[in-house]
Amino acid sequence: MSFQEKYPRPYYSKYEQVELDCHSDWFRVYRLPGKVFAITEPKHCQEVNSFLIIGSQRALLWDTGEGFFDITEVARELYPGEIIAANSHSHFDHIGCNHRFDHVLAYDDPQAHYTAERGAPHGLFADQLSPEMFIGGYPEGLDPETFFVPPYRIRSVRDGQLIDLGERILEVIHTPGHSPDSMMLLDRTNGSLFTGDMFYQAALYAHFDCPEFGRSDLNAYLNSMERIQSRIQEVKALYCSHNELIAAPFKIKEAADAFRSILNGKVMEGLTVDLRHVYLEDGTAIVEYPFREFSIVSRASPASGGLDYE
Ligand SMILES: [Zn+2]
Repeated sequence: MSFQEKYPRPYYSKYEQVELDCHSDWFRVYRLPGKVFAITEPKHCQEVNSFLIIGSQRALLWDTGEGFFDITEVARELYPGEIIAANSHSHFDHIGCNHRFDHVLAYDDPQAHYTAERGAPHGLFADQLSPEMFIGGYPEGLDPETFFVPPYRIRSVRDGQLIDLGERILEVIHTPGHSPDSMMLLDRTNGSLFTGDMFYQAALYAHFDCPEFGRSDLNAYLNSMERIQSRIQEVKALYCSHNELIAAPFKIKEAADAFRSILNGKVMEGLTVDLRHVYLEDGTAIVEYPFREFSIVSRASPASGGLDYE
């Protein structure tokens, strides 16, 4: 599959890799500007990035990875002091080691509570655990027949809440759209914006509608992007939870424009709907709209703001 052919991704060479003593076969760590480590899992198709954000008093782990291996051991190798954890949202690929913390900060939304009570059961992973989803086959130590994410405890945070890491203040910004419990963290001290799954330079998913993933909402997605856009002068860089680690702040405007064009029933000039990606999921057409350096996947029904193909 395509992600296998492109391994390792060329963009990693832009960043300084940090050698690890533990789990170095699975995780790759990069030192990023602004006292941040990216802890990546490039050998699984999700290409998830978690971030360890270092303050003078404590560090915050932004998402806890897929859970195939213990990310907390990597985090402790990188930072010997107190480490707290927060979730960008509660999708399975970001909560894998939540249960290893006493509690994890999560947005105060029913979706976050739903997943905390259940974890991510084995059945949810479906083809995510098939061998072709892994570079070089299954990593030693992972049992794909039984893997699951256990339940965990959360502590709710609200919009505007500040998290003090010591000489580093992170602001919670509720950004529903991808999921109802999606949030971003704005590092007011360094101008870093941690975008979770709301923005990265690959397919942005706005099509979910099930208890485990919650309901995506195109209007909410656009509102969230416009809200971030209104504060973009505070932002120096976007730290993204999948694929390329860092993106430029102006990409938020591009994403807002893209969502607006979909909701208005027309894609941006010069771009066309890629009908090859249309498929059916529970009887609903799913379509992928291509834009520059990212795409948007959504339901194609009129209710979700999709295009009319008839
Ligand atoms: Zn997600």
